[in-house]
Amino acid sequence: MTAAIIDGKALADKLRARTAIHIRHLKAAHGFVPGLAVVLVGEDPASRVYVRNKARQSEEIGMRSIHHALPADTEAAALVGLIKRLNADPGVDGILVQLPLPPQIDPAGVIDAIDPAKDVDGFHVINAGRLATGAPTLIPCTPLGCMLLLGERHSALAGLNAVVIGRSNIVGKPVAQLLLAADCTVTMAHSKTRNLPAVCRGADILIAAVGRPEMVRGDWIKPGATVIDVGINRIASADGKGRLVGDVAFAEALDVAGAVTPVPGGAGPMTIACLLQNAVTAACARRGIVIPTA
Ligand code: NAD
Repeated sequence: MTAAIIDGKALADKLRARTAIHIRHLKAAHGFVPGLAVVLVGEDPASRVYVRNKARQSEEIGMRSIHHALPADTEAAALVGLIKRLNADPGVDGILVQLPLPPQIDPAGVIDAIDPAKDVDGFHVINAGRLATGAPTLIPCTPLGCMLLLGERHSALAGLNAVVIGRSNIVGKPVAQLLLAADCTVTMAHSKTRNLPAVCRGADILIAAVGRPEMVRGDWIKPGATVIDVGINRIASADGKGRLVGDVAFAEALDVAGAVTPVPGGAGPMTIACLLQNAVTAACARRGIVIPTA
């Protein structure tokens, strides 16, 4: 069997195009353009690339991008002070603080300081609690992207066995909540799970969010399963530049799965597209505007 490849780049392009239409509508009908503030602390090279991509993609779809770069030795109080100013700024609809933060800053305290109505990453405890209790909320971007990727393959998920490997607050836990809300029977696996391959073999839907290159082998996958690979891992390559692989052994998965996302080009591009959609969602919710359908 050769699995279908779920094209996250094409889906992200479609989502961004729809968000651009929403932004044009908001400008024409309501006289404003949503503003997304991105805060970067320090010089982490991967974070700088992410932040640059976020700013570029915001501008491409007509969103206002507000960028704050702070030095690596910034104290938590200064960062929280900036967040409070962004919370109070009516032109800012979404606030994203790029993680990881330098070691002197506790990320939980920073996320707590963000106005939940502007928390476009969906990491604030109020938004996490809303997600857990089924209330409308800003949904974390990578998990939201995973659900949209699954939607490319499944019109309904009710009754399917879903296994999520990884229990982080930013990917594993929220994606498990979303799968539960979609009526899947959900198993959360993690570093202490016993006989992980056998657990995975029971999955109709398998989400890998671990950060271990090609850990999920072909014989862990149930024939015909849908596999979403969230992992992004850089490994050595013959040309010395390194290459990106996911948490799933992609070539092996192609022989067994019904559908699988590639790395790169699967969950990764969906994350920024969902962030931009969240900024529009936040802008509309704060103003009591019903989001127009494209
Ligand atoms: P994390 O380190 O916070 O969590 C990893 C999880 O994997 C933990 O819950 C841990 O219990 C589990 N784990 C570790 N070793 C394991 C093992 N041997 N067996 C089973 N479970 C194990 O990571 P994270 O922030 O959730 O990110 C996970 C991966 O997803 C990383 O590769 C990260 O780069 C990637 N990621 C991608 C995007 C994207 O945009 N596509 C976004 C966020 C994270």
